[in-house]
Amino acid sequence: MRNSTYQNSRFLHLFDRNGQDRVFCIFHSLTQRKLYGGKILRDIYKSFASPSEIGAVKEELSAAYPVAILERIISDLTTHDMITPDTQADLNTYLNFFHTGANLYEIRHTYFIPVSDCNLRCRYCFVEDENKDLLPTGKMTSDTAKKALEVFAKLTAGQREKISLTFYGGEPLLNKPVLCNSMRYVRELERDGRFEKPVEMSLLTNGVLMDDAVVSCIVETGTMVSVSIDGPKALHDAARKDIAQTGSFEHAVKGFAMLREAGVKPGVSCTLNQYNIHAIEQVVDFIIEELQPPGMGFNILLPTMGSGNPLDVEPEYAAAQLIRAFKRLREKGIYEDRVMRRVLPFTEPFFHFKDCMGVGGQIVIAPDGSIGPCQAFLGNADYFPINVDELHSNFAGIDSDTIYQYPLFEEWRYRFPLNMVKCADCVAISICGGGCPYASMVNHGSIWEIDERICHQAKAIQEWMIWDAYENMPGEEKAA
Ligand code: SF4
Ligand code: SF4
Repeated sequence: MRNSTYQNSRFLHLFDRNGQDRVFCIFHSLTQRKLYGGKILRDIYKSFASPSEIGAVKEELSAAYPVAILERIISDLTTHDMITPDTQADLNTYLNFFHTGANLYEIRHTYFIPVSDCNLRCRYCFVEDENKDLLPTGKMTSDTAKKALEVFAKLTAGQREKISLTFYGGEPLLNKPVLCNSMRYVRELERDGRFEKPVEMSLLTNGVLMDDAVVSCIVETGTMVSVSIDGPKALHDAARKDIAQTGSFEHAVKGFAMLREAGVKPGVSCTLNQYNIHAIEQVVDFIIEELQPPGMGFNILLPTMGSGNPLDVEPEYAAAQLIRAFKRLREKGIYEDRVMRRVLPFTEPFFHFKDCMGVGGQIVIAPDGSIGPCQAFLGNADYFPINVDELHSNFAGIDSDTIYQYPLFEEWRYRFPLNMVKCADCVAISICGGGCPYASMVNHGSIWEIDERICHQAKAIQEWMIWDAYENMPGEEKAA
């Protein structure tokens, strides 16, 4: 080892388990390399909090710890740039990750919105926003739908990643002809080779309007379905009401059952809100016992355009309840997407650059054929600057890059934690993805601000995973 000064990487963090056994974890937030051990780790970490000579640190700590162990740990930390002689290693690591994230933007997903209106008036939904007048209530025409799908196929040409399409709303089943024809047309475009690879299609529905014709189209086209159900009847109906203010539970569950009977295996989309968050165990038990989905996802409330959300939940509490629910679902082998999309980057590990494909990879196609990065801005023309007709009329000349010639998409593409000043030193930067730019805009007036809902969640999940991984390690691997 060179006899120069070394210092903790800027991205090195110390976790303290604070239990009787006083375990510590040194963790590099970019590479996600981690080391568990006793107080020796804490003392080494503290010693290199400012530039220090390795020999001097060893000498100082040798009064408390065997030199051979000190040498082994310090050598490990220097080898992996967890303590470094200068800032160059940090800069190189950061830039490598940054460039990968910035180049992750080729179009590969669309939210396809056959209709923006909804048959329900859920108390937390942006369709119920006071500024709802902004929302166009029109339905997509068959002509627009066909052109839109052809354009999407063209934009995804050459895509190496999975191509996916989500039918979304409003409630997509309010425009059943276009919904079903579009599902079939996607498969036709695949057969013609206009989609170069299979498209993973999914439908997000409240289930209420499900009928035999839609079910058979779903089966025929292999579309995955997720039904919005917020828990047992009383908890679901508290927020999810129809226009006459009647709870939608029975109809939603009936739609869910129709799908199951047809062999579809629908997932569940459950929105955490003031009514069901306190009863999370009841919600989870209901989902496990009554619905038995192969997978599910919890949604965190989006703020409405006016201000906040009437059913908002305090972010720290929501994060704690989410982890609790996840543990129970994990025991039962049910995949929960919201937590898993942070767990997988940690366990594999890989860098989860972007939590929302609105910041690279996604177009939202509105019923009138306008195209934007985010469905929550539906009705706001500033956020839907492109039109399907315009792209279709220049069909041969368009590709994924065409989308990023529009300044809005170009700006959004770069909105990810590695490019956000407030995120650079965050311990959860590699699993967070930066949350939702729409929420940042609505709450703080800029997409470049933090989305606190996801921020609290990512940090809480990061800390939980550090110790969950430790608890599940074989005994002999635990000590550094
Ligand atoms: S910005 Fe937010 S609301 Fe819009 S698509 Fe992304 S996550 Fe969804
Ligand atoms: S949004 Fe919050 S948790 Fe996510 S990277 Fe930024 S500071 Fe960290």
